[in-house]
Amino acid sequence: MLACMRYSKLFIPTLRDDPADAEVVSHKLLLRAGYIRRVTSGVYDYLPLGLRVLRKIESVVRDEMNMAGAQELQMPMVQPGELWEKSGRMEKYGPELLRFKDRHGHESCLGPTHEEVICDLVSRELRSYKQLPMNLYQIQNKFRDEIRPRFGLMRGREFIMKDAYSFHADEDCLAAEYKNMFDAYCRIFTRFGLKFRPVEADTGSIGGSDSHEFHVLADSGEDLIAHCGACEYAANVEKAVSNRQAAVADQTELNMVDTPAVTSAEDVADFLSVDIALLLKTMVYRIIGGANDGSIVAVCVRGDDQVQEIKLAHVVGADSVEMATDAEIASIGGVTGFVGPQNLSSRILLDHSLEGATGLAAGANHQDAHVTGLDIARDITSAEFFDLRQTRTGDTCVHCGGDIALSRGIEVGQVFALGTRYTKPMEVLFQDQQGKRSVATMGCYGIGISRLMAAIVEQCNDDAGISWPLTLAPFSVGLISMGKSNAVLEASESIYSRLKEAGIDVLWDDRKERPGVKFKDFELIGLPFQIVVGDRGLNDGQVEAGWRKNERRPVPVADIVSVVMSELQPVEMEN
Ligand code: ATP
Ligand code: MG
Repeated sequence: MLACMRYSKLFIPTLRDDPADAEVVSHKLLLRAGYIRRVTSGVYDYLPLGLRVLRKIESVVRDEMNMAGAQELQMPMVQPGELWEKSGRMEKYGPELLRFKDRHGHESCLGPTHEEVICDLVSRELRSYKQLPMNLYQIQNKFRDEIRPRFGLMRGREFIMKDAYSFHADEDCLAAEYKNMFDAYCRIFTRFGLKFRPVEADTGSIGGSDSHEFHVLADSGEDLIAHCGACEYAANVEKAVSNRQAAVADQTELNMVDTPAVTSAEDVADFLSVDIALLLKTMVYRIIGGANDGSIVAVCVRGDDQVQEIKLAHVVGADSVEMATDAEIASIGGVTGFVGPQNLSSRILLDHSLEGATGLAAGANHQDAHVTGLDIARDITSAEFFDLRQTRTGDTCVHCGGDIALSRGIEVGQVFALGTRYTKPMEVLFQDQQGKRSVATMGCYGIGISRLMAAIVEQCNDDAGISWPLTLAPFSVGLISMGKSNAVLEASESIYSRLKEAGIDVLWDDRKERPGVKFKDFELIGLPFQIVVGDRGLNDGQVEAGWRKNERRPVPVADIVSVVMSELQPVEMEN
């Protein structure tokens, strides 16, 4: 890659105003500063500046993966459908998998992830335990036909991922590699200077047992993570568990009361003048996938709680759940807006926090009516209790009793201990030490390279633009020529050459633009260190130099290379 460039020769199409369709700051800034352009929904061009940042992200990731003992390879983006049939994911993966037929009518798909392809490869080459363990990775474009691509690079349809797959002779060896990758991920995100947090995670459609996600903390994050203020516990709310004080009231007599057109939990609590915690909210769902596909279940949580649908899906053995229609609600004896847990013909699942609760208000399964004085143990037959609610602020930690708080995060990586979820159906077999044919165990480890570029900008920006950490900036130094005099041009050219010789990547703004325009562009693009060459300073043999965030100071032209080196090197060494 060319280390140094002149601005006049580089394709940096900056925009003065925020693009109308960009909601989050990283999307706005990456478009405005000329790093990316949209091709179609969720699909982007990486322009020269954007590509330079991606390459730097990749090089840190490669470095740490190689040091952790993984080997790089490259698999294809187009994958044969048979492999997905064999793993059993052809149906399960759903519409995110972009399927097509080639000219010979063969079912094919664009790879959203590569467990099938790597298992196929390894199954054909693996013979003996002596070849294990091994960890193979690639950095490559993925395609997922996301239902709601948004926030620019954050949730694309085509995006770049580092995906690694490890194979082992036994569970202990897998556990050791899982830890090895976990530690490598911590080093990678630390080298990027990110505020991040590893959290316990649901294994989602990939499957397996153990999993952690790595989240960059940012208000724009799509994920909610729960963490304890007193101990290390942190988990995605899709998986988080927590304790809650039970809501207790005295009233024990069951009454039906009129609540004309009052349906939402908040409105019912207001209308009946009861604490919302004493309201029982009943939601009705249809099960998607699994043995009970299509059946209807009713789920109860406290009025101030939300049903956590991923937990629910696990409880009922489903791929996912969807809200039931009015007709489906009626089919189990419910009335939309006034559903309650009594006399329903479906399974009734209640959150643990309702066990033993009394004096509750709930829907009456009658139009415009609720009941009060509900006693769970007395009034609901066939109640089943599970952890079904979403953890929230105010809960307490199940490990230490500390306070749980919620933060928003951007998932930039995830590690999975898969066990034999893929190696069994894909027949990844080897001869073990006793000469027996055994199924290999497997782990997989992903990092969203292009999503990381957006996540980094979410944490590193100010009113004027992007503020890249030195390790990731497309160029370390911006050299800005102010004015068109020969003296300025000659001094700039000489500084440019000397910096280049010293191995510093510098972007020289040699354009014939007004200083105001140049300064604006440089603030927007976000290079960490700036040198400004102007007639006034040159008269005293000086230029101005400094970090983007700080004031620039005068530096003698003769010293500029050594000043830049001494400023940059300690920062680079830290990383
Ligand atoms: P999400 O929950 O955000 O949809 P995921 O859990 O489905 O992501 P993984 O299968 O764990 O994603 O993929 C590994 C990594 O790839 C993620 O941690 C994320 O950083 C990145 N990634 C996943 N989907 C996208 C996407 N649509 N656009 C950009 N990056 C993505
Ligand atoms: Mg994930």
